[in-house]
Amino acid sequence: MGTIEKIKRIIDKANKKIAKAMQLLAPGSACCVRCNRPWRFVRKRSTSYGPGKACAVAVLCKWCWRRLSTQERLHYYNNFIEELGFDEKSKEKIRNLVLMGN
Ligand SMILES: [Zn+2]
Repeated sequence: MGTIEKIKRIIDKANKKIAKAMQLLAPGSACCVRCNRPWRFVRKRSTSYGPGKACAVAVLCKWCWRRLSTQERLHYYNNFIEELGFDEKSKEKIRNLVLMGN
């Protein structure tokens, strides 16, 4: 493992550790599904699957998005869209967008 990857893993661990404290400061705020840091403190990576803000889904923060391969991202998206009960057409759109790197 290279030095950069080692540093990124240390940051990953630190992010997960501070997530709980951040959640206390932002009660009720939705969070990145990977690091659990609330949207109030981290930038979300949105995927638009239709017109308007209602047709955008944010599952991962920008840090976590960049850390993952397309397949790894899809895993998180799949869990999220299944839990939230999106219709089949939207699910398909979102999966395709994530696979294309959007
Ligand atoms: Zn994250």
